[in-house]
Amino acid sequence: MIELSNLEKRFGDNIVLNDINVAMAERSVTALVGPSGGGKSTLLRCINLLEIPTAGTVRIGSERLTFQPGGKVSSGDILKLRRQTGMVFQNFQLFPHRTAIENVMEGLVTVLKWPEDRARERALSLLEKVGMKHKAHAWPATLSGGQQQRVAIARALAPSPRVLLCDEPTSALDPELAQEVVDVLGQLAGEGTTMVMATHDLRLASKVAREVVFLEAGVIVEKGPVETVFGNPQHQRTKRFIATLR
Ligand code: ADP
Ligand code: MG
Repeated sequence: MIELSNLEKRFGDNIVLNDINVAMAERSVTALVGPSGGGKSTLLRCINLLEIPTAGTVRIGSERLTFQPGGKVSSGDILKLRRQTGMVFQNFQLFPHRTAIENVMEGLVTVLKWPEDRARERALSLLEKVGMKHKAHAWPATLSGGQQQRVAIARALAPSPRVLLCDEPTSALDPELAQEVVDVLGQLAGEGTTMVMATHDLRLASKVAREVVFLEAGVIVEKGPVETVFGNPQHQRTKRFIATLR
Protein backbone atom coordinates (compact mmCIF):
# COMPACT_ATOMS: atom_id res chain seq x y z
CA MET A 1 0.00 0.00 0.00
CA ILE A 2 3.00 2.27 0.56
CA GLU A 3 5.74 2.12 -2.00
CA LEU A 4 8.94 4.12 -2.05
CA SER A 5 10.95 3.73 -5.23
CA ASN A 6 14.46 5.02 -5.85
CA LEU A 7 13.82 7.60 -3.18
CA GLU A 8 16.58 10.12 -2.58
CA LYS A 9 16.82 13.06 -0.23
CA ARG A 10 19.75 15.47 -0.22
CA PHE A 11 20.34 18.47 1.96
CA GLY A 12 22.82 20.35 -0.19
CA ASP A 13 25.63 17.89 -0.91
CA ASN A 14 24.64 15.63 1.96
CA ILE A 15 22.78 12.54 0.71
CA VAL A 16 20.57 11.62 3.63
CA LEU A 17 18.49 8.97 1.85
CA ASN A 18 20.12 7.07 -0.97
CA ASP A 19 18.07 4.97 -3.38
CA ILE A 20 15.48 3.75 -0.89
CA ASN A 21 13.23 0.99 -2.24
CA VAL A 22 10.68 -0.46 0.10
CA ALA A 23 7.04 -1.50 0.06
CA MET A 24 4.69 -1.83 2.99
CA ALA A 25 1.48 -3.82 2.77
CA GLU A 26 -1.90 -2.71 3.98
CA ARG A 27 -2.33 -3.58 7.69
CA SER A 28 1.43 -4.06 8.08
CA VAL A 29 3.48 -2.54 10.89
CA THR A 30 7.06 -1.62 10.07
CA ALA A 31 9.76 -0.48 12.49
CA LEU A 32 12.51 1.74 11.11
CA VAL A 33 15.60 1.15 13.22
CA GLY A 34 19.22 2.16 13.02
CA PRO A 35 21.78 4.54 14.41
CA SER A 36 21.03 8.19 15.08
CA GLY A 37 21.42 10.31 11.97
CA GLY A 38 20.76 7.30 9.74
CA GLY A 39 17.76 8.94 8.10
CA LYS A 40 14.76 7.43 9.94
CA SER A 41 13.01 10.73 10.62
CA THR A 42 13.78 12.01 7.15
CA LEU A 43 12.31 8.84 5.65
CA LEU A 44 9.07 9.29 7.63
CA ARG A 45 9.00 12.95 6.63
CA CYS A 46 9.44 12.00 2.98
CA ILE A 47 6.45 9.65 3.23
CA ASN A 48 4.18 12.49 4.37
CA LEU A 49 6.09 15.07 2.33
CA LEU A 50 7.05 17.26 5.26
CA GLU A 51 10.36 16.87 3.41
CA ILE A 52 10.25 16.88 -0.37
CA PRO A 53 12.37 14.06 -1.81
CA THR A 54 15.01 15.16 -4.31
CA ALA A 55 14.31 12.11 -6.47
CA GLY A 56 12.15 9.02 -6.60
CA THR A 57 8.53 8.06 -6.18
CA VAL A 58 6.24 7.97 -3.17
CA ARG A 59 3.00 6.04 -3.49
CA ILE A 60 0.32 5.64 -0.84
CA GLY A 61 -2.69 3.69 -2.05
CA SER A 62 -3.59 5.13 -5.43
CA GLU A 63 -1.86 8.49 -4.80
CA ARG A 64 1.56 8.62 -6.39
CA LEU A 65 4.09 11.42 -6.85
CA THR A 66 7.43 11.34 -8.61
CA PHE A 67 10.16 13.83 -7.78
CA GLN A 68 13.20 14.92 -9.72
CA PRO A 69 15.86 17.56 -9.27
CA GLY A 70 14.49 20.86 -10.52
CA GLY A 71 11.05 19.29 -11.00
CA LYS A 72 7.92 21.03 -9.76
CA VAL A 73 5.20 19.30 -7.79
CA SER A 74 2.05 21.22 -6.96
CA SER A 75 1.16 21.93 -3.34
CA GLY A 76 -2.30 20.49 -4.02
CA ASP A 77 -0.76 17.16 -5.01
CA ILE A 78 1.46 17.24 -1.93
CA LEU A 79 -1.54 17.85 0.33
CA LYS A 80 -3.49 15.04 -1.30
CA LEU A 81 -0.71 12.59 -0.53
CA ARG A 82 -0.04 14.01 2.94
CA ARG A 83 -3.71 13.51 3.84
CA GLN A 84 -3.24 9.77 3.43
CA THR A 85 -1.02 9.92 6.52
CA GLY A 86 -1.23 10.76 10.20
CA MET A 87 1.91 11.60 12.17
CA VAL A 88 2.86 11.11 15.80
CA PHE A 89 5.98 12.90 17.09
CA GLN A 90 8.44 12.15 19.87
CA ASN A 91 7.36 15.26 21.78
CA PHE A 92 3.60 14.87 21.23
CA GLN A 93 3.19 18.42 19.88
CA LEU A 94 -0.35 18.87 21.13
CA PHE A 95 -1.82 22.36 20.82
CA PRO A 96 -1.25 23.66 24.37
CA HIS A 97 -4.26 25.99 24.38
CA ARG A 98 -6.70 23.30 23.32
CA THR A 99 -8.14 20.58 25.53
CA ALA A 100 -7.56 16.91 24.68
CA ILE A 101 -10.82 16.62 22.76
CA GLU A 102 -10.27 19.94 20.98
CA ASN A 103 -6.87 18.69 19.87
CA VAL A 104 -8.50 15.65 18.29
CA MET A 105 -11.34 17.67 16.74
CA GLU A 106 -9.15 20.48 15.37
CA GLY A 107 -8.21 19.01 11.99
CA LEU A 108 -11.67 17.59 11.39
CA VAL A 109 -13.31 20.97 11.92
CA THR A 110 -10.76 23.36 10.42
CA VAL A 111 -9.34 21.27 7.58
CA LEU A 112 -12.06 18.78 6.71
CA LYS A 113 -14.90 21.20 7.64
CA TRP A 114 -16.82 18.61 9.62
CA PRO A 115 -19.71 19.96 11.73
CA GLU A 116 -18.66 20.31 15.39
CA ASP A 117 -21.10 17.67 16.62
CA ARG A 118 -19.84 15.03 14.27
CA ALA A 119 -16.20 15.92 15.01
CA ARG A 120 -16.85 15.77 18.76
CA GLU A 121 -18.45 12.35 18.44
CA ARG A 122 -15.53 11.01 16.40
CA ALA A 123 -13.00 12.56 18.81
CA LEU A 124 -14.71 11.00 21.84
CA SER A 125 -14.72 7.56 20.27
CA LEU A 126 -11.01 7.88 19.43
CA LEU A 127 -10.20 9.11 22.95
CA GLU A 128 -12.06 6.09 24.26
CA LYS A 129 -10.03 3.82 22.00
CA VAL A 130 -6.76 5.17 23.44
CA GLY A 131 -8.08 5.09 27.01
CA MET A 132 -8.33 8.87 27.35
CA LYS A 133 -12.07 9.55 27.28
CA HIS A 134 -12.02 10.43 30.98
CA LYS A 135 -9.51 13.23 30.23
CA ALA A 136 -11.37 14.65 27.23
CA HIS A 137 -11.57 18.14 28.74
CA ALA A 138 -8.11 18.22 30.30
CA TRP A 139 -5.40 20.63 29.16
CA PRO A 140 -2.29 18.97 27.72
CA ALA A 141 -0.04 20.43 30.43
CA THR A 142 -2.02 18.57 33.10
CA LEU A 143 -1.52 15.19 31.38
CA SER A 144 1.41 12.80 31.77
CA GLY A 145 3.64 12.26 28.75
CA GLY A 146 2.03 8.89 28.10
CA GLN A 147 -1.42 10.45 28.22
CA GLN A 148 -0.37 13.29 25.92
CA GLN A 149 1.03 10.81 23.44
CA ARG A 150 -2.20 8.80 23.51
CA VAL A 151 -4.15 11.99 22.73
CA ALA A 152 -1.68 12.72 19.92
CA ILE A 153 -2.32 9.24 18.51
CA ALA A 154 -6.08 9.87 18.61
CA ARG A 155 -5.54 13.20 16.84
CA ALA A 156 -3.42 11.59 14.14
CA LEU A 157 -6.09 8.95 13.54
CA ALA A 158 -9.01 11.40 13.45
CA PRO A 159 -9.15 11.91 9.68
CA SER A 160 -8.84 8.14 9.07
CA PRO A 161 -5.42 8.18 7.39
CA ARG A 162 -4.30 5.19 5.35
CA VAL A 163 -1.10 5.01 7.40
CA LEU A 164 -0.02 6.14 10.86
CA LEU A 165 3.59 7.39 10.95
CA CYS A 166 5.27 7.51 14.37
CA ASP A 167 8.65 9.14 14.98
CA GLU A 168 10.17 7.75 18.20
CA PRO A 169 6.75 7.72 19.88
CA THR A 170 8.07 6.39 23.20
CA SER A 171 11.51 8.01 23.34
CA ALA A 172 10.49 10.94 25.54
CA LEU A 173 8.75 8.68 28.07
CA ASP A 174 9.77 6.80 31.21
CA PRO A 175 9.47 3.04 30.77
CA GLU A 176 6.13 2.82 32.56
CA LEU A 177 4.54 5.57 30.46
CA ALA A 178 6.17 4.19 27.33
CA GLN A 179 4.36 0.92 28.07
CA GLU A 180 0.97 2.67 27.87
CA VAL A 181 1.87 3.90 24.43
CA VAL A 182 3.23 0.50 23.35
CA ASP A 183 -0.06 -1.04 24.50
CA VAL A 184 -2.16 1.44 22.50
CA LEU A 185 -0.03 1.02 19.37
CA GLY A 186 -0.19 -2.76 19.82
CA GLN A 187 -3.96 -2.59 20.02
CA LEU A 188 -4.11 -0.48 16.85
CA ALA A 189 -1.82 -2.95 15.10
CA GLY A 190 -4.18 -5.75 16.15
CA GLU A 191 -7.06 -3.84 14.58
CA GLY A 192 -5.18 -3.68 11.29
CA THR A 193 -3.90 -0.09 11.35
CA THR A 194 -1.06 0.30 8.87
CA MET A 195 1.90 1.84 10.68
CA VAL A 196 5.48 2.86 10.07
CA MET A 197 7.45 3.78 13.17
CA ALA A 198 10.98 5.00 13.72
CA THR A 199 12.14 3.73 17.08
CA HIS A 200 15.04 2.82 19.35
CA ASP A 201 12.62 1.04 21.64
CA LEU A 202 13.20 -2.65 21.20
CA ARG A 203 10.09 -3.44 23.19
CA LEU A 204 7.98 -1.31 20.87
CA ALA A 205 9.62 -2.67 17.74
CA SER A 206 9.41 -6.31 18.76
CA LYS A 207 5.93 -6.21 20.31
CA VAL A 208 4.15 -4.10 17.73
CA ALA A 209 6.02 -4.35 14.43
CA ARG A 210 6.03 -7.35 12.13
CA GLU A 211 8.58 -5.95 9.70
CA VAL A 212 11.87 -4.20 10.34
CA VAL A 213 13.84 -1.91 8.07
CA PHE A 214 17.39 -1.25 9.25
CA LEU A 215 18.62 2.07 7.95
CA GLU A 216 22.18 3.31 8.30
CA ALA A 217 23.74 6.37 6.68
CA GLY A 218 20.75 6.74 4.38
CA VAL A 219 20.87 3.21 3.03
CA ILE A 220 18.66 0.22 3.79
CA VAL A 221 21.15 -2.34 5.08
CA GLU A 222 18.62 -5.05 5.84
CA LYS A 223 14.86 -5.52 5.91
CA GLY A 224 12.57 -8.39 6.73
CA PRO A 225 10.32 -9.93 9.37
CA VAL A 226 11.05 -8.91 12.98
CA GLU A 227 12.08 -12.45 13.92
CA THR A 228 14.71 -12.55 11.19
CA VAL A 229 16.19 -9.08 11.52
CA PHE A 230 16.24 -9.13 15.32
CA GLY A 231 16.71 -12.86 15.84
CA ASN A 232 19.06 -13.74 13.04
CA PRO A 233 20.44 -10.61 11.37
CA GLN A 234 22.35 -11.26 8.18
CA HIS A 235 24.64 -8.25 8.16
CA GLN A 236 27.46 -7.46 10.57
CA ARG A 237 26.27 -3.89 10.96
CA THR A 238 22.76 -4.98 11.82
CA LYS A 239 24.13 -7.54 14.32
CA ARG A 240 26.26 -4.93 16.04
CA PHE A 241 23.43 -2.43 16.18
CA ILE A 242 20.88 -4.91 17.55
CA ALA A 243 23.40 -5.92 20.22
CA THR A 244 23.62 -2.29 21.40
CA LEU A 245 19.85 -2.14 21.88
CA ARG A 246 19.59 -5.11 24.20
P1 ADP B 1 17.52 9.75 12.37
O1 ADP B 1 16.08 10.08 12.53
O2 ADP B 1 17.76 8.35 11.90
O3 ADP B 1 18.31 10.05 13.60
P2 ADP B 1 17.54 12.01 10.57
O4 ADP B 1 16.61 11.66 9.47
O5 ADP B 1 17.04 12.93 11.62
O6 ADP B 1 18.11 10.67 11.21
O7 ADP B 1 18.83 12.68 9.96
C1 ADP B 1 19.57 12.10 8.91
C2 ADP B 1 20.61 13.08 8.44
O8 ADP B 1 19.97 14.17 7.81
C3 ADP B 1 21.46 13.68 9.53
O9 ADP B 1 22.78 13.75 9.06
C4 ADP B 1 20.88 15.06 9.72
O10 ADP B 1 21.86 15.95 10.16
C5 ADP B 1 20.42 15.39 8.32
N1 ADP B 1 19.28 16.31 8.31
C6 ADP B 1 18.04 16.04 8.76
N2 ADP B 1 17.22 17.10 8.59
C7 ADP B 1 17.96 18.06 8.00
C8 ADP B 1 17.70 19.39 7.54
N3 ADP B 1 16.47 19.93 7.65
N4 ADP B 1 18.71 20.08 6.98
C9 ADP B 1 19.93 19.52 6.84
N5 ADP B 1 20.26 18.28 7.23
C10 ADP B 1 19.30 17.56 7.81
MG1 MG C 1 15.00 10.72 14.16
